[in-house]
Amino acid sequence: MFRTFDEARNFIRENQYRMIDLKFSDMWGNWHHVTIPASQFTEEMMRDGVGFDGSSVGLKSVKSGDMVLLPDLASGFVDPFCQFPTLSFICSAYEADTKRPFAFDPRNIVARAEEHLRATGIADGSIWGPEYEFYVFNDVSVENDVNVAAYRLDSVEGAWNAPTAGHGHLIPFHGGYHAIPPKDALANLRAEMCIELENLGVPVKYHHHEVGGPGQCEIETPLFDILKAGDATQIIKYVIKNVAQRNGQSATFMPKPLFGEAGSGMHFHQMLMKGGKNLFYDPKGYGCLSQEALWYIGGILKHGPALLAITNPSTNSYRRLIPGFEAPVNAFFSLGNRSAAIRVPKYADQPETARFEFRPPDATCNIYLALAAQLMAGIDGILNRIDPTANGFGPFDANIFSWTDEQRKAIKPLPASLKEACDALRDDHDFLLAGGVFDEAQIQDWIKHLMADFNAVNNRPTPYEVARYYDV
Ligand code: GLN
Ligand code: MG
Ligand code: MG
Ligand code: MG
Repeated sequence: MFRTFDEARNFIRENQYRMIDLKFSDMWGNWHHVTIPASQFTEEMMRDGVGFDGSSVGLKSVKSGDMVLLPDLASGFVDPFCQFPTLSFICSAYEADTKRPFAFDPRNIVARAEEHLRATGIADGSIWGPEYEFYVFNDVSVENDVNVAAYRLDSVEGAWNAPTAGHGHLIPFHGGYHAIPPKDALANLRAEMCIELENLGVPVKYHHHEVGGPGQCEIETPLFDILKAGDATQIIKYVIKNVAQRNGQSATFMPKPLFGEAGSGMHFHQMLMKGGKNLFYDPKGYGCLSQEALWYIGGILKHGPALLAITNPSTNSYRRLIPGFEAPVNAFFSLGNRSAAIRVPKYADQPETARFEFRPPDATCNIYLALAAQLMAGIDGILNRIDPTANGFGPFDANIFSWTDEQRKAIKPLPASLKEACDALRDDHDFLLAGGVFDEAQIQDWIKHLMADFNAVNNRPTPYEVARYYDV
């Protein structure tokens, strides 16, 4: 939004903004914020930063937690959810003493991955299009014990209290894809989300009701460069949740909130640019994809199991990756198959559009780490010329669910649990360390954290387990 401090300060003065909100991501991809009055938005603040305790947000060990935030002036946007006129900036973390960029700040990791891409000479930059699927429920706030308890019981049976359009216009299970009002009771809510997004500078491609019904929604944007894709994702999750809240409802990006219904993914469309051209395009290639694109796919699929520990870092992620819900379950690529980890869209057959989507990820990822890790896997694929067709990664365009057990042995599975993904990452993470993009200690820390989560969930009896085994 702004190129210089003066530009930002003048805009704040002219438009009488009263508060400046500084937003930053923790290690797990959640936004936090600290707010300063506009009078504190000074050259000194831009030099010294605003202090915070990095150890409280998983960025730094408890011993030396002091860090400062510096706003990225280009990221400024008018925050529509504040009572008083507020300008928001997305920030990166810096060392409190040296003011050097903090190495493990998620945005800095993205910047390093992009630098690594350029340093290899493969491409000048990468372009990304995450897709945003989410459910909207009648207010199921954690504060409201009654609602939570009811919701838990309902989800045992696969029914829930999602917004409904009244008698006769209820979307049936699995029947929400592109539904129209009055069945689609959320069209205006999504429009409100998209208008807020466009107002604050995030363009929208379209929105629609998704197949899970009633209540599953999707918003898509055009493709962005890598840092903008990360920042836009944080803004989009913020806007979607806050517009829902403003309307007395609750939006969740949880990958599989409901048993027996479609889960919510975050597919990543991706391409590489070189000399102003899409490096992934070749009109003679499979799905109009170039040799580089195929090697990149080879890297993603080879490192797929390890990658999932970063793109699917919750226990709930693996409840989504099961057959029957258009979620991927296998590590192969394909033109049409939605159970494939990589789908090449048939409509993306032009020099500007040729690309593929990696379908496993979901919104529990730290968007910045997920972008950086996929790019690193793809770069590794190109550097090592990993041919996916020679490594059992397809392409398979037949309906693999009609294959015999023997035929299906050719297909590699994706991890079935967070533990399997962690095991894979423990064994396979050199591709992330190349160019100093990720760090060994950071990865070990990440795995430790994920395994604590895995155990915390796995060790707890669930309502369904109680129902299933109570009367033994
Ligand atoms: N919801 C599906 C998933 O979990 C995707 C459905 C679709 O976009 N076709 O990935
Ligand atoms: Mg979509
Ligand atoms: Mg979708
Ligand atoms: Mg998709």
